[in-house]
Amino acid sequence: MGQHAILSASASKRWMNCTPSALLEKQFADEESIYAAEGTAAHALAEHKLKRFLKKRSKRPVSDYDCDEMEECTDDYVSFAMEQIEKAKQSCSDPVVMIEQRLDFSRWVPEGFGTGDLVIVADDTLYIVDLKYGKGIAVSAEWNPQMLLYSLGALELFDSLYDIEKVNMTIHQPRLENVSNFEITVHDLMEWAEQELMPKAEMAAKGEGEFAVGDWCRFCKAKNTCRARAEEYLRLARMEFKPPELLSEEEIAEVLKVADELAKWSADVYAYAQDEAITHGRVWNGFKLVEGRSNRKYVNEEEVADAAKAAGYEDIYKKSLIGITEMEKLMGKKDFQKILGSLVYKPQGKITLVPESDKRPPIQTETAEADFKEDE
Ligand code: SF4
Repeated sequence: MGQHAILSASASKRWMNCTPSALLEKQFADEESIYAAEGTAAHALAEHKLKRFLKKRSKRPVSDYDCDEMEECTDDYVSFAMEQIEKAKQSCSDPVVMIEQRLDFSRWVPEGFGTGDLVIVADDTLYIVDLKYGKGIAVSAEWNPQMLLYSLGALELFDSLYDIEKVNMTIHQPRLENVSNFEITVHDLMEWAEQELMPKAEMAAKGEGEFAVGDWCRFCKAKNTCRARAEEYLRLARMEFKPPELLSEEEIAEVLKVADELAKWSADVYAYAQDEAITHGRVWNGFKLVEGRSNRKYVNEEEVADAAKAAGYEDIYKKSLIGITEMEKLMGKKDFQKILGSLVYKPQGKITLVPESDKRPPIQTETAEADFKEDE
């Protein structure tokens, strides 16, 4: 992958919603998070496995992130990819299969390109599959700009050679067991590209348009110091309340609506300021660096055990079972299910107040009341 496009496919949701963000981000250095590095390692392993399945030469990559979970997830992805290839073969005896294919969509987005994990051309259908190794949130393929951009890039490669009428796109997130699929006609894709994509890409490339705050800010390099984001949250925090002295139910509901976002934003700014102070010696008016609380530690466990035993103390060790996640990693998902499936249960979660948009079904008030009483 290496080089990054300013208007990249992976960041397209952000720059399509907040067009000036692409140029604003340019002043921040590229810093690869451990999650991104882990994702890159998983992609390299998946690419290798898929190539071997397709009887192509490939050398197994080695990374610091190799683990049972990555093995299983990439196996899952490869079986899914092979299913897609088999599906394509049902309508076309000799589909074109491309792995980690560079896709150039610069006809619609200035200097735009990305990498398609799996691209299959089977007569009138183009299949695009994207592996997402993260386990943050489930991503939908429906009108997903990243997938639509990959589709445009793939069409640019193959449209003159094949009579492609529709594009079938899938996001595969093995760690979340999420498989999201969306199919679109080439006609609708082109309409979206001309009416939605091109005007926004043009603005984004010039740094024009309005800043817009939303969930896409999460991956923006400017998020800690972005003025638009600060103004939006400070505006929310400056809600005007009128007398009487106590907040009304409506006013409390207003506070709840913004509390979560406000907390995330202030945590981002705090983390940024702290990092600047620690790593660059930056001084913030009214703040200082101090040492956090710490717990006592043994200098050397073996020496401690020897000394305690020599003093006549025998009962100095304790043995405990490893946690569920560690056990699942140790056994692998399938064996874990087979050996311990019936011995693991999920207790009822702590009752929490969340916005209506949350996907979990609401629970009955009576139950909530009863549970709160039990907790008392
Ligand atoms: S933080 Fe949000 S509002 Fe600010 S530039 Fe980035 S995407 Fe736009």
